[in-house]
Amino acid sequence: MVPTDTIIAPATPPGEGGVAIVRLSGPDAENCLAGFFVGKRSPSQMVSHHLYHGRLCRPDGVLIDEVLVTIMRAPRSYTGENVVEIHCHGGSRVMSSILDLFMSTPVRLARPGEFTERAFLNGKLDLAQAEAVADIIQARSERACRVALGQLDGRLSQLIYRFADQLKDILTLVEAHVDFPDDEVGALDQGAVAEQLSALSGEMSRLADSFDTGRALREGISVLILGRPNVGKSSLMNALLGQSRAIVTAIPGTTRDTLEEQMVLGGFPVRLIDAAGVRSTDDPVEHEGVRRASEKASAADLILLVIDGSQELTDEDRMAMALCSAPRTLTVVNKADLASAFPMSEFLHFGQPIAISARSGDGLSALQAAIVDRLGGSSGGDVGEDVVIMERRHREALIQALAAMTLAAVAIDSGAPLECLALEIREGLSALGLITGETTPDEILDQIFGRFCIGK
Ligand code: GDP
Repeated sequence: MVPTDTIIAPATPPGEGGVAIVRLSGPDAENCLAGFFVGKRSPSQMVSHHLYHGRLCRPDGVLIDEVLVTIMRAPRSYTGENVVEIHCHGGSRVMSSILDLFMSTPVRLARPGEFTERAFLNGKLDLAQAEAVADIIQARSERACRVALGQLDGRLSQLIYRFADQLKDILTLVEAHVDFPDDEVGALDQGAVAEQLSALSGEMSRLADSFDTGRALREGISVLILGRPNVGKSSLMNALLGQSRAIVTAIPGTTRDTLEEQMVLGGFPVRLIDAAGVRSTDDPVEHEGVRRASEKASAADLILLVIDGSQELTDEDRMAMALCSAPRTLTVVNKADLASAFPMSEFLHFGQPIAISARSGDGLSALQAAIVDRLGGSSGGDVGEDVVIMERRHREALIQALAAMTLAAVAIDSGAPLECLALEIREGLSALGLITGETTPDEILDQIFGRFCIGK
């Protein structure tokens, strides 16, 4: 249901700053402003989308702040309603006085995401576009931000609408054959319908698979650096980060607990974790560190198993190796600047080991490329033309649509009545509508908008 009340919220984060913005949306936004604004023009005389200087005063004349205001009249606004933005001084006291002032009128504080929810309810954005707004705000890398911007621009929605249009065309054809006898409309070419459904399924399935990359872009990935003490884990972490953050020493076991840093690799936000050295020990602190390393190894998206290539393998190397699972592990043979004693054959099940020198930096770019490659992205850092889905919800809806496509194909193969085929196609359409919001239940909408910040 389209809302009829007026809401207010700060549009800028709390704290001190040059300017803060308060935003109102709803039918009373302009009238409420008129009650407090003192300037050369009254709000009713203001041209939409222009900025006006003036003062906000309480009804008893007390000055609240000197401000710039703009009115964006419906429907040409973010929410599709009358929107007022007040640019005030960026202090928390000023902000709360302005909020108090307006909330003494029939204006209420907005819920998180309520402005975007109104934009959705008023048809300014579809649901996939609205979700992209939160993803842009929360993006942790430039590449993630670009994918979200593409989604806001409607790239994902257009693809979904195209799938839906194709399905609707097929449905119309099938329903015509349900409603009219064959001698009027001719026999349905079921083979052709099956082919179209199969081509569509292929496209949907590729889009669903893009979630692995999309998830990595949106949520980031954890890369664990694992190995026995002194193989050069901290040195590698520093080299990847390009700074001296982890402590590097020649005494085994210095990195007693795990250390985490954030970085961006090939456009993916990465949590780089330096695990405690894996070593057999009686020291309880070390022991706890090893236990945590093993826990982190199970949880990590990718493990860099670091081996000192200048030394013979030790039992501790083998302990570290035992914590690694092959599909998620890259073997990094460090200290390539020294003579090699590395037994290549023992590691081949983890894929081709990568020789580096954390000290000289040799091999680091090959390692970075290999990491990005394992994460399913191109090391060029470009998203390319393909649309990528970043929401688990979108993948689930696509899987639901694909299941309906499979059942539609079964209906054709088994010679079931055309009503069954039509039913499955309608199911597929309804699943696609979950992505763009046509068929999304209210409680899911509440969850989606609830993850926005207040004022957005
Ligand atoms: P960690 O215990 O695995 O974190 O190992 P560190 O990063 O603390 O390194 C242990 C020792 O190996 C230090 O003396 C480093 O300077 C040295 N080291 C690390 N990487 C290299 C390398 O690529 N070549 C050489 N020659 N020494 C290295």
